[in-house]
Amino acid sequence: GVGPAAARTRTTCGYCGVGCALDVVTQNGEVAAVLPARDGPVNHGHACVKGRFSHGFRTSPERLTRPLLRRGGTLEPAGWDEALAHVARGLRAAVDAGGPDAVAAISSARATNEDNYLVQKFMRVVIGTNNVDNCSRLCHSPSAAGLTASFGLSGGTDSFDDVERADCLLVVGANPVEAHPVVGARLLNRVLHGAKLVVADPRAVGLALHADVHLRPRPGTNVALFHGLAHILLAERLADEEFLRARATGLPELTQLLADYPPDRVADITGVPAPDLVAAARLYGRAERPAIVYGLGVTEHLHGTDGVRSLANLAILRGAVGTDRGYGVNPLRGQNNVQGASDMGALPDLLPGYGKVTDPAVRSRAERVWGVTVPARPGLRIPDMFAAARAGDLRALWVIGEDVCATDPDASHVAQALDACPLVVCNELFLSETARHADVVLPVASWLEKDGTFVNFDRRFQRVRPAVPPPGETRTDFDIVRALAKAMGVDLGCATPADALAECARLAPVFAGLSHDRLDHEGAVPWPCPDPDRPGEAKLYLERFATPDGLAHLAATPYLPPGEEPDDSYPLVLVTGRRWAHYNSGSMTRRGGNLALDPVDFLDLHPDDAARYEVRGGEQVTVESRHGRARLIARVSEQTAPGQVFCSFHFPASGINRLTSDHADTVTSCPEYKVTAVRVAPP
Ligand code: SF4
Repeated sequence: GVGPAAARTRTTCGYCGVGCALDVVTQNGEVAAVLPARDGPVNHGHACVKGRFSHGFRTSPERLTRPLLRRGGTLEPAGWDEALAHVARGLRAAVDAGGPDAVAAISSARATNEDNYLVQKFMRVVIGTNNVDNCSRLCHSPSAAGLTASFGLSGGTDSFDDVERADCLLVVGANPVEAHPVVGARLLNRVLHGAKLVVADPRAVGLALHADVHLRPRPGTNVALFHGLAHILLAERLADEEFLRARATGLPELTQLLADYPPDRVADITGVPAPDLVAAARLYGRAERPAIVYGLGVTEHLHGTDGVRSLANLAILRGAVGTDRGYGVNPLRGQNNVQGASDMGALPDLLPGYGKVTDPAVRSRAERVWGVTVPARPGLRIPDMFAAARAGDLRALWVIGEDVCATDPDASHVAQALDACPLVVCNELFLSETARHADVVLPVASWLEKDGTFVNFDRRFQRVRPAVPPPGETRTDFDIVRALAKAMGVDLGCATPADALAECARLAPVFAGLSHDRLDHEGAVPWPCPDPDRPGEAKLYLERFATPDGLAHLAATPYLPPGEEPDDSYPLVLVTGRRWAHYNSGSMTRRGGNLALDPVDFLDLHPDDAARYEVRGGEQVTVESRHGRARLIARVSEQTAPGQVFCSFHFPASGINRLTSDHADTVTSCPEYKVTAVRVAPP
């Protein structure tokens, strides 16, 4: 316990995927300050305004501290035994009526690895379904699919320490200065010390001010942009022919495809002037050690996986991946543990450690550890869960720490799905938009109050430790999953989070060398880590790629247009993203000191568009898409390109995700958040 004297607890930030190590200072049982750890392996003594000051949510009067149960249409306080018994009865009834696949769970990229491990185990062992997914579906599932197809593993190819040694950075579809500020600062520092910088982003994001070349493609044209760069690499003989001969496959097919992507044609598709394309390709192509860093501007598209693969092509053509001649392809993960939630198998087609549920050898390894038969059929992805609920096929949905009604696209349809589902259970800190539609709301501990591990964006496992006790009657997700299993007559084992990681390590060879003990001693360990006596692999593929043939795979996928394009009725393109002071749906950052830093959301639009549509900065405007309507305050800014508008999703009350469409990546179902045709008008 924490006594009257100040105490410090080393933990890992619960906001973005950078994974800053933080020292939480407590006094009299409450958080007094959050300090960046000087010896933090990623943050080196730095932290951003989110990690430092967003702990006020913990004591917000709106914090849920007792379970809530819907009675006669109203959510009312209930005891834990009653709430868990109600959920257990509801799950049993759903299985009786529709079989195990009538139940689904959305696990949490904010929760620990151990929570996620236990949730997917609950679904597979207690319910008997693979219907479990996490919000990587909505952000980086194209990274997992694309990087796996190109290189063999779903994570970024290099550590950020390596990326920081690059002499040319290609930063694509990311705004790290605001969304991943500690990484943004490290990248900027590298540029100020001489590295070349190419930024590819429709917006004039912070790093673009320091770029040697800023490419501003029309949203939805990434694949053409990357093919244009690849075309120039080949045309100007900037490719690494020896690497391509020895370690890659697919060059003839790609060469044939790239013939259709000369700079002039790519300029027509993307809006990027051909000389800028050539300049960018030469910077990346002539660098001795280039690195690619990218974000959701690459993935959240109708062809997001193609985008990841065509971006990966550039690193393969340069031999800048799996060698000492560059630092590969590195996704900036959004949520603190979105990498870990996927690593732990909270996915409908993959078990912990990325073994396919369709592979009998993979299933039998899990079956030996769990003592049950694992279903072979892949489960539902998140958008399919909502469709199944609307169709009456999904009878129970457990949503753990995700405000799907605020953050998923085409949000009106999400709310309809929840209302159509006979049992909706939410694990939540607050009465979120989603929890308002739930039948049972279970109050949970936050990242400051729980034990476990997170995996950051460069695959490092780090410890999470409770600095303060959970308030009121709140319980950890981990305890809740175990208790619910018990209420359904199943002992899930894994008495502690350390036990859960140990069990996962037995089941998944890539994590076999990991344990809480080891992390307590070493601080941060990257995966793959198959051996407890050897370090994890920070840089991947030095000997061979992890594809079945050991080669890097070039992808020859043609450019295809986005799901929506502007027209006379909806002449602007809406792009959504993050701002500096808030985090995702803002449920935590809006309830702490950060609200004063950034109190309202804006719709950013270019001065030309403001004049054209008679919109003045500071005035409220109506934004409409084919899917819904929202009201926002206009902000006139050249940061947004003509023909585009930008808004965050930090303020659910503005309803921005009622506008976004259900278009989704054709491979992974990741929503196309980055391209929605809209119009604006005075209110
Ligand atoms: Fe670090 Fe990200 Fe947390 Fe900011 S939000 S302190 S950059 S982990």
